[in-house]
Amino acid sequence: MKETLHFIDPHIHMTSRTTDDYEAMAAAGVVAVIEPSFWLGQPRTQVGSFQDYFSSLVGWEPFRASQFGIKHYCTIGLNSKEANNEALAEQVMELLPLYLHKEGVVAIGEIGYDDQSPAEDKYFREQLELAKEFNMLVQVHTPHRDKKAGTIKSMEVCLEHGLDPSNVVIDHNNEETVQEVLDRGFIAAFTIYPKTKMGNERMVEVVRRFGSTNIIVDSSADWGVSDPLSVPNVGKAMLAQGYSEDEIEKVLFANPINFFAQSGRISLEEVTRPLIDQTKLHEENSALRGQDPIVEGKD
Ligand SMILES: [Zn+2]
Repeated sequence: MKETLHFIDPHIHMTSRTTDDYEAMAAAGVVAVIEPSFWLGQPRTQVGSFQDYFSSLVGWEPFRASQFGIKHYCTIGLNSKEANNEALAEQVMELLPLYLHKEGVVAIGEIGYDDQSPAEDKYFREQLELAKEFNMLVQVHTPHRDKKAGTIKSMEVCLEHGLDPSNVVIDHNNEETVQEVLDRGFIAAFTIYPKTKMGNERMVEVVRRFGSTNIIVDSSADWGVSDPLSVPNVGKAMLAQGYSEDEIEKVLFANPINFFAQSGRISLEEVTRPLIDQTKLHEENSALRGQDPIVEGKD
């Protein structure tokens, strides 16, 4: 693969990943990531945990990414699982407006349904209203159980609240849901899961069958079994199937950036390999542990 191929992973939880992952992603051509806020694998017990997490998504994590040559953006929201703790959810809703205006926040997300409970519905709707109020894009997590009905319901609720489908990305699609999402004018995101569900070959087949317009691909890599190289690996699979480099970069680079560029906080021009300057510190902290700092892309 040419060095010139560029990728963005528009859904990856880097907080749960290592600096080795950042280095491997940069080496594979990933120049930027978007990190949605989600849960930690166990429920948070106080609003301060959300606050510190959101602060890290706009502070430490973009710094850490930059140290390894990757631009970092994020989406801020109350995830569906923790929407079920209503007492806490109320406090998180009050916190959100403090973060939505921050640099690098490209959407409200990931929000939507998990169990499709009444509390999830309530806070999904409230956050859609917030998106309208703040004129923001929305990144929707669709449930893994009862996928098709949950996906359709997510879109219907967005429309009911008057959101423009072209401002909403519906994530975790499969072959059963994609046509409906595209027909309604939403952006369809696919998560590549290693060993299960959607793999590279299946993803290439989706692009062949459904086209490349309004389709984006991500890894959703987190603390679970997942692969931060999913997006470049789909690129390799597309190349092997005879797709041109332009077609590959359209799906795996331009489509997601052009969607999130509607936020005014990311653009194709701006997303290029950042300069690496490991002599920099973030609030006096470094990601290095005694190594010689690398400075790359400067004289
Ligand atoms: Zn996620």
